[in-house]
Amino acid sequence: MAKAKYDYLLVGSGLYSGTIAALAAGAGKTCLVLEKRSEIGGNVYCETIEGIHVHKYGAHIFHTSSREVWDFVNRYAEFNRYTNSPIANFHGEIYNLPFNMNTFSRMWGIRTPDEARAIIEAQRAAVTGEPKNLEEQAIRLVGTDIYRKLIEGYTEKQWGRSCRELPAFIIRRLPVRYTYDNNYFNDLWQGIPIGGYNALTEKLFAGADRKTGVDYLEDPARWNACADRVIFTGPIDAFYGYRFGPLEYRTVRFETEVLDTPNFQGVAVVNYTDRETPWTRIIEHKHFEFGTQEKTVISREYSETWKPGMEPFYPVNDEKNAGIFAKYQALAAAEPKVLFGGRLGEYRYYNMDQVIASAMAAWRKLERQSEE
Ligand code: UDP
Repeated sequence: MAKAKYDYLLVGSGLYSGTIAALAAGAGKTCLVLEKRSEIGGNVYCETIEGIHVHKYGAHIFHTSSREVWDFVNRYAEFNRYTNSPIANFHGEIYNLPFNMNTFSRMWGIRTPDEARAIIEAQRAAVTGEPKNLEEQAIRLVGTDIYRKLIEGYTEKQWGRSCRELPAFIIRRLPVRYTYDNNYFNDLWQGIPIGGYNALTEKLFAGADRKTGVDYLEDPARWNACADRVIFTGPIDAFYGYRFGPLEYRTVRFETEVLDTPNFQGVAVVNYTDRETPWTRIIEHKHFEFGTQEKTVISREYSETWKPGMEPFYPVNDEKNAGIFAKYQALAAAEPKVLFGGRLGEYRYYNMDQVIASAMAAWRKLERQSEE
């Protein structure tokens, strides 16, 4: 039954919104969720093809070191033991990721951490002082050989610009290890929800009323009247009608194919790190859940500049966009009723656990405000 007035209107139905919905339901508060797409779940939504959960909006591997976030998601789903250990393909040469002793050994034919350190030490001398951009940061971390084969082409394809024009922090997301450890993440916990991400989002939103196929921005005043508070998880620049100009995003186009073979690439994620291969990676979805289906489903990912009407995936957190975002943020701070959250609402390159942590913090604030 739809209510006349809800405590919260949640715009968008990804993990930020889902976290608020679950916490609100637990506190006896009511929520109405508006989702533009025909399905809820935001970018963790999976489509089932040949019995395989296909990550329709890009590969999502949950990982966190936050006990609070891990306990939270485990209340709504059980997680499998998937550990991300992607492969890099550079013109057919295969390397382990993240950058670790397996990578170094294959790159230079060496065996020990000391040998690897000596090579990287010599190569990183090419950059002195505080790294000013992604290229300098990458060379400081792993030297020029790894930069040229495993970082430069991939990064330029993913971001559509030179590594010298990108911020250093992007590459600091990746571990560099002098051990033979192919785990892509350093976090204490990781995995994929058993039953897929839809099972998780279904539970997060279980207590909320939902409307799909509705674009809030077509009539914000009408929807705002439905609730005491609004949580907006769409792009903040779209909310304000792009009045300070659009923020830049990267989008990803997926070419998904069903193949009549049980195992195409032997691993969930292969990054194509050379410049010439037009896609950035190929995802073989069944490996996230150790699938034993007869067929397989793969998605080639092509990274592109976002234009209106496309799905925004990655904020481009450079100085120019930071300046534009600050203007929107100033408007947002003065907004009495609307709170902005998530990757698009906060224009931040969040991982899933960071989105959940951000929503939890926002919820605590909302609770305090409602007590006042
Ligand atoms: N990166 C790279 N080579 C790789 C994988 C990642 O150079 O094989 C760099 C690239 O700049 C990328 C960044 O590391 O933008 C972060 O990668 P991550 O895997 O965290 O990106 P996401 O999974 O969010 O797309």
